Amino acid sequence: MNHFQLKNNELFCEEISIKNLAEKWGTPLYIYSHSTLCHHFRTFDSAFQGYPHLICFSVKANSNLAILRTFIKEGGGGDVVSGGEVFRCLKAGIDPKKIVYSGVGKTKPEIDFALKTGILMFNIESTQELNLINQQAKSLNTKAPVSFRINPDIDPKTHPYISTGLKKNKFGIDISQALNKYKLAQSLKNIEIVGISCHIGSQITETAPFVESLRKVKGLIKRLKEEAVIIRFLDIGGGLGITYDKETPPHPSEYAQAILREIRDEDITLVLEPGRVIVGNAGILVAKVLYTKSSSEKNFIIVDAGMNDLIRPSLYDAYQEVIPVKISSAKKYRADIVGPICESGDFLARDRLLPEPQNGDLLSVMSAGAYGFVMSSNYNSRPRPAEVLVAGKRSYLIRQRESYKKLIRGEKIPGFLMPE
Ligand SMILES: *Cc1c(COP(=O)(O)O)cnc(C)c1O
Repeated sequence: MNHFQLKNNELFCEEISIKNLAEKWGTPLYIYSHSTLCHHFRTFDSAFQGYPHLICFSVKANSNLAILRTFIKEGGGGDVVSGGEVFRCLKAGIDPKKIVYSGVGKTKPEIDFALKTGILMFNIESTQELNLINQQAKSLNTKAPVSFRINPDIDPKTHPYISTGLKKNKFGIDISQALNKYKLAQSLKNIEIVGISCHIGSQITETAPFVESLRKVKGLIKRLKEEAVIIRFLDIGGGLGITYDKETPPHPSEYAQAILREIRDEDITLVLEPGRVIVGNAGILVAKVLYTKSSSEKNFIIVDAGMNDLIRPSLYDAYQEVIPVKISSAKKYRADIVGPICESGDFLARDRLLPEPQNGDLLSVMSAGAYGFVMSSNYNSRPRPAEVLVAGKRSYLIRQRESYKKLIRGEKIPGFLMPE
């Protein structure tokens, strides 16, 4: 369920017409629905009701401070993958004890920052990382709370770029080596083992891969107990998929039931790291039609948003629905919807049948709330779009449109290149 609805052939976000928002804030424009964000968070959270759990929103899916703040107010924590994301969480007012830190390439300064912040746990991905964290914790005279990220060798049946739990992927440690790694961690003075984690991929549309990997992890927890390693937190990652097109992912309650069925008898706190399922369908990207043109092969609708604003279609060949913000013509037009970037891979959608657009019409790219703005860039020196949060009848600018001046911030021409 989301709060982007057509009313009399015109698209609304909650109680505001998208056309009004585009006029007010310009295009391209990211728009998020506050009610949808809260609804999705609560639906997910309540699915685990009755079992000790913590929802750590995956910050990389959408890291805008206002979005993070929304979930923090709902009691959520953050799953981070960089020092920058720790910084964002703190700026949004998070309780540091609700931060879990994953990622294969944590640097020394990032580790120090997280240690000083006092996060809930590091999800460790290699022995070398474990040793460095131990060393840094020692130098800061503290103990680092850690879990190992296990690679369970499970095929999540998703796009290869977003599958993370296969042996050939760079993530986690091989489950067959896990016991030895835990023993090593046990011997380190500045390490405190608190948990176990696993995250097998993204946009997963069945419960089976989650259950399968959970069973493997459960077996490991049992073995660890025999070695007197007590696991307090079981972090099962994120990855639950959403409907972009015709996918039929399990509802969060179905997902929760499948998981709870497996761990009902464990004395453990469950940590969840949902990203896409919370924000994906809570945001859209609105673009303006600049031109249309036809080659002998096909038609093109050229809009003012490109792959620098939303890269999922280009990067993953991902499908995102495109709908007119206002239906102005009964005539249909089959076309590729492309951006202004100088790359043939710069498209938002291909081969779509839409009402024939006029220049200046608005198109909405749906399901753009996750991995949308956060993956945007300044390629072609295009200022990044503005982001707006809608709550009921009100809209709030939560990120200014970038200016040309911001585009060159930090750049310098060395003296020797300057005129005498
Ligand atoms: C990306 C990521 C997530 C979130 O994945 P979604 O598919 O957006 O739910 C959770 N945990 C880790 C470690 C991740 O890298």
